[in-house]
Amino acid sequence: MAEGGGNTATGPFTELLEQYGPRVWETLAANVPRDLRWNWLLFMVAIALAIYLVRKGRGAKGADGRERPSGLLEFLLPRDIYTHVSARVDVWLWVLERALYPVWALLLLGSLGPFIERSVIGALTAGFGAGPAIEPNLAWMLFYSLVLLLSYDFTFFLLHYAEHKVPALWAIHKVHHAAEVLTPLTRYREHVLEGPLYSSAAAIGYAFPAAVFAWLSAGSIKAITVFDIGLFSLLFGFNGAFRHYHVQFRYPRWLEKWLQSPAMHHTHHSYLPQHLDTNLAAVTSLWDRMFGTLYIPEPDEPTPWGLAPEEQAECRSFTQNVAAPFRAWRDLLRAPGRRSAQAP
Ligand SMILES: [Zn+2]
Ligand SMILES: [Zn+2]
Repeated sequence: MAEGGGNTATGPFTELLEQYGPRVWETLAANVPRDLRWNWLLFMVAIALAIYLVRKGRGAKGADGRERPSGLLEFLLPRDIYTHVSARVDVWLWVLERALYPVWALLLLGSLGPFIERSVIGALTAGFGAGPAIEPNLAWMLFYSLVLLLSYDFTFFLLHYAEHKVPALWAIHKVHHAAEVLTPLTRYREHVLEGPLYSSAAAIGYAFPAAVFAWLSAGSIKAITVFDIGLFSLLFGFNGAFRHYHVQFRYPRWLEKWLQSPAMHHTHHSYLPQHLDTNLAAVTSLWDRMFGTLYIPEPDEPTPWGLAPEEQAECRSFTQNVAAPFRAWRDLLRAPGRRSAQAP
């Protein structure tokens, strides 16, 4: 509190803001995900530019999810998408989600992960004694990285599958699908309640195989950190930002049976009946193929994004999206078993 002249006195709320405001922004800045940093975005634009040149201005979609020819600027940054109310709401949902993300990451990745590791290593040691102390060579490390990637992808798939099939979970995930246009930020457009779910899934997906490998190599698995799993999944699944970009980046069809191309996520966000509940994994196509949810779209297949028109009006503004799960749960309690009218 300033002393002296009355004009310089500050109230408690101003003080709170001055004290914590910069910290909130610092937290947000430190939490900008890797695929939203300038180098990844530049890489994405470079690929989009290559698509523009090779396809002579074709390959980008408009706000209606339909492919259309366009000039370069419109191709990379279409006005109808970036001025859409949905793109604005993406920003605010992202800010809210990112501000709370460190809490989930600390609580769940930091406690659930080590707990699972200790339990699994303890159980293996109790059952089989000390591990064989395998010396991790290059092949072993690559194998370990691959197992971690598949395990993470599988837990991601399972949670995402459940979110699409269980009405109480769909109520939370629906906010991601309420995006009417796709922008790189849509990847992080999530209800705040979704953070703890995905943090738990990541902790489980990583901790189980990590514990088994740590037991097999008698703890020397720490050397494995040279293989950055985050970068691995970014490269293999390409990045989350590109999956939510309106330019279609496809792989050859044979490769899309193994890896999800960014454009395959366009159908995931479409409300057309044939696209509902498809392409649920983050990186590979294996789990979707196994569970019958893989959908490889035709070239330039239209994918109108968002919820079905009759449901979209209830899930458009920031406050509507934040309140959405609570409204849906209330409705579910009144009429149990009824899934909301439509679920992509
Ligand atoms: Zn989904
Ligand atoms: Zn998405």
